[in-house]
Amino acid sequence: MWRWLWRALLALLVLVLGVSGVMGWRYAQYAPADPAVAPDPSALAYFHPDYAGARADFLTQGAQLAARWRDVERFAVPVASNGFGQDLFVDAVYVPAQRSPRRLLILSSGVHGVEGGTGSAVQRMFMRELMNDETVADTGILLLHALNPWGFAQSRRFTARNVDLNRNASTSASLYRTVNAGYPMVDPLINPPAPVNLNDWQHKLFLWRSVGMIAAHGMPVLRQAVLQGQYQYPRGIYFGGQALEPQLADLAPRLKTLLNAYPMSMSIDLHTGYGARGRLHVFLNPPGEERVRQGLETVFGEYPIDWGSGADFYTVTGDVTSWIGSLRSNGLHLPAVFEYGTLDSQSTLGAIKSLQITVLENQGFQNGWATPGDEEAVKQAYREMFYPSSPAWRTQVIQSSRTLLRQLLRRLPEAQPPG
Ligand SMILES: [Zn+2]
Repeated sequence: MWRWLWRALLALLVLVLGVSGVMGWRYAQYAPADPAVAPDPSALAYFHPDYAGARADFLTQGAQLAARWRDVERFAVPVASNGFGQDLFVDAVYVPAQRSPRRLLILSSGVHGVEGGTGSAVQRMFMRELMNDETVADTGILLLHALNPWGFAQSRRFTARNVDLNRNASTSASLYRTVNAGYPMVDPLINPPAPVNLNDWQHKLFLWRSVGMIAAHGMPVLRQAVLQGQYQYPRGIYFGGQALEPQLADLAPRLKTLLNAYPMSMSIDLHTGYGARGRLHVFLNPPGEERVRQGLETVFGEYPIDWGSGADFYTVTGDVTSWIGSLRSNGLHLPAVFEYGTLDSQSTLGAIKSLQITVLENQGFQNGWATPGDEEAVKQAYREMFYPSSPAWRTQVIQSSRTLLRQLLRRLPEAQPPG
């Protein structure tokens, strides 16, 4: 009897060690496959290595649009560089509807700075390939480039004050008093107070500490606690700030004027890092109004929308695309987010890997690094997560954006309420 029990326990132990060994190995090797697409040099040409190159190209494209159509406005909002030796701007190009102002389409990039390289590439593809006399006849186009230029230039998601702009945007100061009740529970895991050392136990056990928390609380609860946004931990990740960040405050009056010159508007905010690698996810906070839902369904048609019913979904507070809509006095606004997936973050391993890279980068920024090698490894992984260097990935981003934005321009008039 005892011998039998002993054997069963031993077998169980071997099984547990085996499964966790395989999981640990898969986690260490984790790298989702690229989309199966042949790299296209003309698509790759839209991607620049840094903020300065992307900005210069955006300004050149803007000048070409200004030469082509009437009353094009170009303006720039300076952003403090905080000791970083470079001029930083949010740049904007506005092409008004040339025949009648029926609707306004806003395309914004770099709300999360490090994601700006991709957003900027998609914007310039749009300017170059999809804008023509027909597109701009009844549709005004506003391009907002690098809403967080400091993060773009520094390859950080957050602003110089560690603010996540996509948790910061609101017309009401009550946002900054929001309490994320789940955040204190995850704080010890996601905001370690020591310098980054890739050899220490906290780092090596991150997978198992995360798995333990998932077992105890469930993935949806944890995902929501981490990603929703928080306003009490200024050095933590997903900090939404204590007031509207200056560049958004500066932009607000201009946005208001432009939005209210049209009976309808749509804003698309361009992001990377969430979802299946190489896939363009249309990602939305669930709309309160039925006509917004209908409008978005008309525009996107059969293209799948992540509405918030899926198990991997979370809601955020203070997102930029909803804030833009809230600057309208009346009429219809359709807010949307494009997310280009990089690490299969909807899978459990992908979610933990994405979180760990985000945690390490912020930990190093806040507390420093044990060695230059640690700093280099973490910054490299962070950049790859938000701005993959893979030619296949980049080509896929341009191709799927071209197809979907072309469809969107065609269908936007059908989503317009009569009158
Ligand atoms: Zn983002």
